This record gives sequence, structure tokens and C-alpha cells, in this order.
Amino acid sequence: MAWYHKVPAPKLPAQDKRARLEGLWIKCDQCGEIIYKQEVERNLEVCPKCGEHFELPVRRRLDLVLDPGSFVEHDRGLESTDPLQFTDSKRYRDRIRSTAKGAGESEAFVSGIGRLAGREVSIGAFHFGFMGGSMGSVVGEKVTRIFERATDRRIPAIIFSASGGARMQEAIFSLMQMAKSRSRGRSSDSPARG
Ligand SMILES: [Zn+2]
Repeated sequence: MAWYHKVPAPKLPAQDKRARLEGLWIKCDQCGEIIYKQEVERNLEVCPKCGEHFELPVRRRLDLVLDPGSFVEHDRGLESTDPLQFTDSKRYRDRIRSTAKGAGESEAFVSGIGRLAGREVSIGAFHFGFMGGSMGSVVGEKVTRIFERATDRRIPAIIFSASGGARMQEAIFSLMQMAKSRSRGRSSDSPARG
């Protein structure tokens, strides 16, 4: 008696026209409609059938808000030094590296200078897909610099928040960012309160 038997591999469906076109359509989780992807893009990532808002990737958000081609990114090279040498199921450094690879971003915040209706703005947006948009020392520094650039150039500061909060892997260094970014976010005319 055999202890096992060979199961034939399931036959994959033939690569028909519909399968090839799959990348062109998306299904709305809310209303279940199959919608042409370009139509969703034209509708600013909102379902044209039911009004459901789809996830808005960080760069797409900046593109939608700013004048075309006006965004110049700053502080892209900032990296966490991992002062706590933190390890959970894997080392924090490795987690950052693998997340960055998957997300296509080096951190959970993208910032720079752009133009909005012709007017220069200091702008940044969180990327929730990068460790829940959590704020560690790099994100805190980037947020702070948004306000420093705005203050230096006397231009508006704009931030799109999509954050789960403090980055646990950086513990107290993460919590310190709240005080830092908060004090910088205040009016430069009242430094005593910062
Ligand atoms: Zn829908």
C-alpha cells in the first residue's frame, strides 16, 4: 500500500484576452463594480459608481495637489541610526530595509517644495504603507524641516497626515519627535511658547 499518491498539478486557465487585460480593471470593494482603472484615475482615485475613496499613494497625492512638475523633494537621504539597536521578530534595521524595498520609499514621509496654483509651498505627506505611517526620528525631522523651510521662506506649510502614531521600535526617540515637531509647527512670532 502506498503511503501517498501523486496529485496531478491543477491546470492553469489558458491565458485568454481577459486575463491579459486584468491589470486594466479594478474591483471596488464597496459596491463590487468592476471599473476601468483609467476612469478611477481620472476621478482622483474615487469610485465613479459609489464614491468610495481608494488608497491614495503618497506621490500620487502630491501630484494631484501640486502644479504639474513643480515638486522638488528634500531630505530624501535621511536614515534612522537605530540608537536602541531594537529587535522584535527581526532587527529594526532589517525591517526598515525590507519595508523600504517593498514600499519604494525610504521612509514614511515624503516632503519638499512645490507650487500650488502658482504659489510656493512647503509640503509633505505621510505614507501609511510604510510601517503604518509611524513617526520615528527621521519622520519627526522631516516634519520639523517642513516648518523650518516655510518659516525661512515665509511660505505656507502643508502636511497630509496618514499616521498610526509613534514608531514603537524607536521608543522614547519617537515620542521626542512629538515635542520637536509641535514646537516648530507654532508661529515663529511666539518662540517663547515653543
Ligand atoms: Zn464603488
